Amino acid sequence: MQVIKKVSEMNQIASQCKAAGKKIGFVPTMGYLHQGHTTLIDRARQEADIVITSIFVNPLQFGPNEDFERYPRDEVRDQELAKQHQVDYLFMPTVEEMYPTDPNISLHVEKRTDALCGKSRPGHFDGVVTVLTKLFHITCADVTYFGLKDAQQVAVVHALITDFNFPTEIIAVPTVREADGLAKSSRNVYLNEQERKEAKYIYQALQTARQLIVDDQKNPDMIVENVKRDIEQQIHGGRVDYVELLSYPYLTPVSSIEGNVIIAVAVQFSKARLIDNIIIDEHGQTPEGIY
Ligand code: AMP
Repeated sequence: MQVIKKVSEMNQIASQCKAAGKKIGFVPTMGYLHQGHTTLIDRARQEADIVITSIFVNPLQFGPNEDFERYPRDEVRDQELAKQHQVDYLFMPTVEEMYPTDPNISLHVEKRTDALCGKSRPGHFDGVVTVLTKLFHITCADVTYFGLKDAQQVAVVHALITDFNFPTEIIAVPTVREADGLAKSSRNVYLNEQERKEAKYIYQALQTARQLIVDDQKNPDMIVENVKRDIEQQIHGGRVDYVELLSYPYLTPVSSIEGNVIIAVAVQFSKARLIDNIIIDEHGQTPEGIY
């Protein structure tokens, strides 16, 4: 595995791979790698000739009062894990390398962002599409892998790729969870012991919502209320930021459960804001191949 810090070097290598007819699989991350990330890397390894993973904590996608400065970082461990999972090129640019000048042009996401994290984190997805536009160009990605834990991100990135005709395919990978159901996340390290115990109830509440839909509950408000109540009854160390039920991938309100919907939750704990979701059809089943 080669660690690359320079944009020009990464782009030169990727261009050469492409010219040689290799299929490039790309996994963008912010590092502090865990099994969620390595599942994406393993999938890329199976499907592509060359695997590029990036580690870049992108300041543009953090709000002024968010955790950019204290986002967990461990470069040595990340390099070890990436090597174990047979990454070919680990791209780790600095902020100055990625953004050497003030931007001349900014990107703004028009749709799929007025709900969920887009609503509570204004500007977040503008930062996400800006960095991904750069990374897709730098890495010449043929296929890019994203986790459904960040399902709104998947919906926005799909729109980016479609609207701007990126020659890149997006693959959405199911959420990887701890044994008790908690979605794996770099931010889980910020939970104290009690919060960690309570955090499993987020996924349990989502499972109850699934069961309501299996039992033919069609009223979105009823389902949202149930999830909120379950979480508030079980989680005392955290505050519900949102519980929403929307169409997927359009992320628009629904008046009845028809087609694919997402039920998504964000809970703010003392030092970590955790998100989770399930995407299901009107029978409560996981839809085949979201992208
Ligand atoms: P991050 O480093 O948090 O930006 O995540 C990088 C990629 O890993 C994103 O596509 C995430 O959706 C994905 N990811 C993070 N956690 C998980 C998880 N528990 N299961 C599946 N994918 C994940």
